[in-house]
Amino acid sequence: ERKAALAASTGPGATADGHKVPLLANIGGPADVPAAVEAGAEGVGLFRTEFLFLDDSKSAPSEEKQIEAYRQVLEAFPEGRVVVRVLDAGADKPLDFLTPGDEPNPALGVRGLRTLLDHPDVLRTQLTALAKAAEGLPVYLEVMAPMVADRADAKAFADACREAGLRAKFGAMVEIPSAALRARSVLQEVEFLSLGTNDLAQYTFAADRQVGAVSRLQDPWQPALLDLVSLSAEAAKAEGKSCGVCGEAASDPLLACVLTGLGVTSLSMGAASIPYVRATLAKYTLAQCERAAAAARAADSADEARNAAQAVLSGE
Ligand code: PEP
Ligand code: MG
Repeated sequence: ERKAALAASTGPGATADGHKVPLLANIGGPADVPAAVEAGAEGVGLFRTEFLFLDDSKSAPSEEKQIEAYRQVLEAFPEGRVVVRVLDAGADKPLDFLTPGDEPNPALGVRGLRTLLDHPDVLRTQLTALAKAAEGLPVYLEVMAPMVADRADAKAFADACREAGLRAKFGAMVEIPSAALRARSVLQEVEFLSLGTNDLAQYTFAADRQVGAVSRLQDPWQPALLDLVSLSAEAAKAEGKSCGVCGEAASDPLLACVLTGLGVTSLSMGAASIPYVRATLAKYTLAQCERAAAAARAADSADEARNAAQAVLSGE
């Protein structure tokens, strides 16, 4: 039955009653594109550009090298959506020439957008390369910054995008609780939000994502995390803007239904998960997803939330 459901799973992501939820792929570079296309991804929801920077520990890749890599990805999704995340260096992804080596708490230090604002030349080159790579292509380019904490961060990023002549939508990742709590304020500067639930869980529960001993607190079913997802999605709706999820949470088919019920507008995940999420989402109406979301948020633990959502969706 599972096989049949998966085989029948093609086309755009939607609930049983036709509420569209674009299913996008998380990729790390051009090498991941074929699997994304094969899985029927409607575009890319998170292009992690760190891979380009890993070859050389002393300097950033040239503009030409970046243009080439970005173009390969953009060309693979004609008419589709591609969301590129600018470099997210630091913490779990340190880069010798950019990341301070002496921080006592790297996850709380200079990482993500903070690194780029300290090295405006690196950000400028990346944004210029993106602008040039997208020239003449019909693709719908969106560019977002990791680790946005507040409106000032979002403004600094949007200004840098405009200065680089980028014709794209600019967005902010919601990975820090402050950005979720004040999502409406962040949205005064950018056109979309994308929830990075891996880091959002880490910062909400003060639980390092690299420390196995605290992995219980990294569970994306934690009701406190669902509350922050809800706040962000509601704020985006009030502003008439979109709010996707690109963290691991989106790849859990049941949780994908709950996220949809919370008002999330797109789901981005590793390509291998797309058929499963598509098949599960197609089984339930938006109203069922909303009831499952409410039940999950009313729970007191991740396990209870999971069970409560499951009970609603299986009609118990
Ligand atoms: C996240 O934090 O959820 C995310 C998508 O970004 P990364 O896993 O690359 O930090
Ligand atoms: Mg992250």
